Amino acid sequence: MTIMDRVLTAGFRHNSKRLTKFDGLTPSETLPPPDTSRTYMLYLHIPFCVVLCPFCSFHRVCFKEDKAVKYFNSLRQEIRMAHEAGYRFGDIYVGGGTPTVMPRELAETLELVRKLSPIDSISVETNPDDLTPETMQIVRDAGVTRLSVGVQSLDNDLLKQMDRYEKYGSAENVMAGLERANGFFETLNADMIFNLPHQTDESLLRDVDLITRELEITQTTFYPLMSAESTMRKMLKMMGEVDFNREGHMYRLILDALPSNYTPSSAWCFNHKGDTTDEYVIENEEYLGLGSGSLSYLDGMLYSSTFSLNHYNRQIAAGKFGISRQQALTPRDRLRYFMLMNLFGLSLDKKVAEAKYPGFFRKLAPEILGLKIMGAVRDEGDKLVLTRYGMRVWILIMREFFMAVSDFRDLMRHAIKEELDAPGPLQIRVPTPELRPPGAY
Ligand code: SF4
Repeated sequence: MTIMDRVLTAGFRHNSKRLTKFDGLTPSETLPPPDTSRTYMLYLHIPFCVVLCPFCSFHRVCFKEDKAVKYFNSLRQEIRMAHEAGYRFGDIYVGGGTPTVMPRELAETLELVRKLSPIDSISVETNPDDLTPETMQIVRDAGVTRLSVGVQSLDNDLLKQMDRYEKYGSAENVMAGLERANGFFETLNADMIFNLPHQTDESLLRDVDLITRELEITQTTFYPLMSAESTMRKMLKMMGEVDFNREGHMYRLILDALPSNYTPSSAWCFNHKGDTTDEYVIENEEYLGLGSGSLSYLDGMLYSSTFSLNHYNRQIAAGKFGISRQQALTPRDRLRYFMLMNLFGLSLDKKVAEAKYPGFFRKLAPEILGLKIMGAVRDEGDKLVLTRYGMRVWILIMREFFMAVSDFRDLMRHAIKEELDAPGPLQIRVPTPELRPPGAY
């Protein structure tokens, strides 16, 4: 890691933690009134997984059928409530957890949303063991246009260290599933991780090769390893120490190894032959999240739903939304968030930015000047464009941003008992000491 990388990491970590600290956050059970002249992106969270991977800091719990059936019922009820509140949706993103853990429940949920609003696209996350002909048929019939598969690696040793080999299959089985699914959906995305402990350059290059040259998957996303403070200890025990000094080197390896028919649509997402389905946070600045553990960003306000499944079910049964926290972004942070997400998608349209936030370039002049001096962005007339070096910088920024979100999830998990015990105003306590190994960055 270069000195510049260290300085940037420290700066962006501080800012990301500040943005996601939800300091002085207020309990909330209501949604703001929607802008009825537009549609929203709907995010649905399905928090069940059959195996809990050691590196993962998402909101997920062990799958139990009775719990999941009850949860899907609550989720459909919350969707109806959002519709009655005036929200209309254009696109759906279903994340988890493992959204396909009960495919028929998922299909019924998606069909409900489609009945309430005309939907353009539906993106669903899944795991390789769910790439069976039957499950794929159910989700495609439910309108899914993009299936995103958590592959993580095609190295059997690494899959074993991640505790994924037994449950989600060997690299050979995963590849057979991907082959079945490729072409079956408009877009098939393979989520990969780089900078895993013990991952060698050769192993990473082999992954790039198998995904892009051998399988020619329509889309692939290479995430840097990210974790929350709470998962560091488990990860350290099962997978070994993370060396963040290798991250920049490994990212450059990926960029150099990708075939020329793969083009980036964000700093970490690459599309075969120009398919340009992007991440929902880029194309949809605002979105509504429903389900336990979902986040929403609406009109400059961040909302978080309760992480307690029992509390969530109880709220919905009482006719209330699952939202339990809200925090306003400062006007400057709103601008920064807009710039962060747009440049993550590789360019910022100046006219769009000024129309949405008058005075945008004057107000963020210091930040933009800094990015230009660093060589992270360049001016291309009516656009600011991320350079190749800027893509590396954005990997670092997004890693810090999502790790701060993960730390916020830790806080919410620690608030579960309080939410169940005391339905009044809540305080979130800081739960864990700094578990990141010293000098990790
Ligand atoms: S990585 Fe995916 S399958 Fe593993 S625990 Fe996290 S959400 Fe579940």
